[in-house]
Amino acid sequence: MAVRTPTKTIRQRGTLRRPRRSRGARGRGAAKKHIWLFEEGNASMRDLLGGKGAGLAEMSRVGLPVPPGFTITTAVCNEYNARGQTFPAGLMTEIRRALGTVERKMGKRFGDPKNPLLVSVRSGAKFSMPGMMDTVLNLGLNEETLRGLAAATENERFAEDAHRRFVQMFGKIVLDVPGEKFEEIIAEHKRRTGARLDTDLIAQDLRAITRAFKDLIRRERRVEFPTDPWKQLEMAIRAVFDSWMGKRAVDYRNFNKIAHDLGTAVNVQAMVFGNMGADSATGVAFTRDPATGEKILYGEYLPNAQGEDVVAGTRTPHPISQMRDEMPRVYDQFQKVAKMLERHYKDMQDLEFTVERGRLWMLQTRSGKRTAQAAVKAAVDMVGEKLIRRDEALLRVEPEQIYQLLLPRFDPDDKAAAEREGKLLAKGLNASPGAATGAAVFDPDTAVELAQTGQAVILVRPETNPDDVHGMLVARGILTARGGATSHAAVVARGLGKPCVAGAEAIRVDPQARQLSVGGQVIRQGEPLSIDGTTGEVFGRAIRTIDPDVSKDRDLQTLLGWADKVRRLGVWANADYPRDAAVARAFGAEGIGLCRTEHMFFEEDRLPIVRRMILAETETERQRALDELLPIQREDFVGILKEMAGATVVIRLIDPPLHEFLPRYDELLVEVTELRVRGNDPHELAEKERLLRAVSGMREQNPMLGLRGIRLGLLFPGIIDMQVRAILEATCLLAKQGVRAHPEIMIPLVGHVNELRAVEERVRPLAEKVMAERGIRVRYKFGTMIEVPRACVVADEIAGRAEFFSFGSNDLTQLIFGFSRDDAEGKFLLQYVTQKILPENPFQVLDRAGVGALIDMAVKLGRKVRPDIELGICGEHGGDPSSIEFCHQVGLTYVSCSPYRVPTARLAAAQAALREKQARSERDR
Ligand code: PEP
Ligand code: MG
Repeated sequence: MAVRTPTKTIRQRGTLRRPRRSRGARGRGAAKKHIWLFEEGNASMRDLLGGKGAGLAEMSRVGLPVPPGFTITTAVCNEYNARGQTFPAGLMTEIRRALGTVERKMGKRFGDPKNPLLVSVRSGAKFSMPGMMDTVLNLGLNEETLRGLAAATENERFAEDAHRRFVQMFGKIVLDVPGEKFEEIIAEHKRRTGARLDTDLIAQDLRAITRAFKDLIRRERRVEFPTDPWKQLEMAIRAVFDSWMGKRAVDYRNFNKIAHDLGTAVNVQAMVFGNMGADSATGVAFTRDPATGEKILYGEYLPNAQGEDVVAGTRTPHPISQMRDEMPRVYDQFQKVAKMLERHYKDMQDLEFTVERGRLWMLQTRSGKRTAQAAVKAAVDMVGEKLIRRDEALLRVEPEQIYQLLLPRFDPDDKAAAEREGKLLAKGLNASPGAATGAAVFDPDTAVELAQTGQAVILVRPETNPDDVHGMLVARGILTARGGATSHAAVVARGLGKPCVAGAEAIRVDPQARQLSVGGQVIRQGEPLSIDGTTGEVFGRAIRTIDPDVSKDRDLQTLLGWADKVRRLGVWANADYPRDAAVARAFGAEGIGLCRTEHMFFEEDRLPIVRRMILAETETERQRALDELLPIQREDFVGILKEMAGATVVIRLIDPPLHEFLPRYDELLVEVTELRVRGNDPHELAEKERLLRAVSGMREQNPMLGLRGIRLGLLFPGIIDMQVRAILEATCLLAKQGVRAHPEIMIPLVGHVNELRAVEERVRPLAEKVMAERGIRVRYKFGTMIEVPRACVVADEIAGRAEFFSFGSNDLTQLIFGFSRDDAEGKFLLQYVTQKILPENPFQVLDRAGVGALIDMAVKLGRKVRPDIELGICGEHGGDPSSIEFCHQVGLTYVSCSPYRVPTARLAAAQAALREKQARSERDR
């Protein structure tokens, strides 16, 4: 083959050069240039050339063996879609010119009946969107060029196979004929000819199959298959652009919060063939194991095959290590290329390659998607290898990935029991780690239906493709019978952070019958199934899960240790019980930012006393109940303060409306009515009627805006007194034992400074009294939650009395938006997000423009009056990375979140500090 590509080998080049900023890409003319030859671009041009295009350009630029080609820019895609599916003027002429260059390099001509150039047409957006966009290979074939290809390669079977693949891909992707219909035709031919594998089909078989494909297309689409290569090319480019706005791609972008106006580029590239015999192959590889992060060349390849065979999972490929024995020279070269690319990009690379008659061609390099475990290990290892600095390592790992590492795993005892019971059904590839249990479902739509009813589901498919993505999004885990570690299922699952077992070949999946069978056992839709994506095991029953012990994860501890050195924000936890506080501390919490005392009231042994306190008809009766509660609360506080010895514990006084401690009105009404009808238990009836009267007397139209928080305390001051006494007594008790307890008394739902004044006037003298009684002085702070918008506006007045603020961003969001959280999330909020009325759920990600602006205002006002005021946040946002970044920016002292989010928050806080540093140094430059 007369291929004239860059001949400089990697060895001659030594190290790769850093990408130069292309003048053209940044200059004004760049937007007008629709097409870039690979050798004209570079790695920094991802916006314009897409990730794949920029990678191909960079590899070409540094002299790696890349088949020649060009990229049609993302700007063209946007223009095409904006102008109602119309190409910019002159685009086809530019394409002809660029393809002319490729023809000259390859020594072949597009559409030449004697020695035809074939091309691949692939999409490539700025961010990789696995399986979302489409690829057409072998484009340029028709009856004439097919003969030319057969003659030029002296291989008729190869040419017929290339044609068959082209018609199939073009039919499916460009003409939208369902893919299964092509597969059915192949299966039918195999059955008829007795062929077991695709490779058993001979040239005539393939020819007949292609003819059947064309008939199918005619029947389905009422069009003749296009024979003109230029027409084929134009249609394929359009199909890529159209697919950018296709449902699958739009869904994926919505889920992953990728902007819709990025557009996709189209890469047109000379074909090289991995299916030209035993000295040809195709494969994909990662420079490190994407599941564990281990530094090994990880991947798979298939001899005598084209790329789609590996990715589609229709044939199970060989591990790449086998290539060392089968193609030692090429393996050696590939290994060097892989190493060099990783050093060049300073990150783990995901590579695609083809070997054509013993010659290596690189088809893709991009940053490799990896599991949480791999992300942490690779980042830490690369610092050790002096590839990156600590700051970069910290920015490499997504805070959400840390959360994934804390996810439950199977309880080894229960798993062993399942094995003994013969419930281990099969072992497949450990494609994406984690344990998942759920009801088996065999199609994506049912997965969505069941998930909407709150059921955990495991999606089981023979293999997945982009049409399954909506089911994969809602499933707890994914199981496929076919496909390797780089199959669609594996790649998408890893991206989503979901457990996946792929290529469990022993299992027969029958989507029609909605069941799977293996070794005589059958699992039907709805029956329990468990998969372990870390080991590849599949079990035919539910298995209990347990939490992993992250204290033993050395890489994670190293990374979090670096994070702690960098962050400015403190990371505290919300915990109501000593056991939660212990978990939080083990995860690195530096204090408790919110202890919701009312949760203690809900405990079974306390509820009757709490009810008595609420229902008391005289003050003496109420005080008796409070006296009973006092020692119990004191014990609670001793427990949590002791657990957090030396650290601050913010204890919030009772917050929810009192009726939450009583039975529901409607249920009581039914019970009373029944008792009246039966008339056989006058004593119980009288008791229930009394309860009903009390509950009815406390009913509110809008309890969240009613008698709760400090309003309740001010109406029933005995509760405040009891809680404050319990806190102080616990602290004095511990102080005498030598335990350093630092309680902070927090008043909820304050909107007016007079509310705070009224409580303070009770709390301070009472605290003094307890200390005098106990004969010891202890430190405590008095402060407030800021969760009513008015409190933000008058935060200066409030800071005059409060030694600390803790932003209750749950209530603050609810009250600023005027959304009732419980109603909004279930009813309209999700729709608001899908319709882009709101960019995200404001109860998850802090609304910076509204809620954030008020927080910022309160911070500034509070500091003006009390410069050393302690400022925290204890709503759900305290564990969300984007909200944490905001908290850093407005200068809070700490964020407080659920214990399991503490490690995530530590990393997010470090990233916020690093980003600020980066932005500052960019400004100074
Ligand atoms: C809040 O409102 O943010 C808060 C932490 O309090 P709660 O969720 O208990 O109302
Ligand atoms: Mg609140």
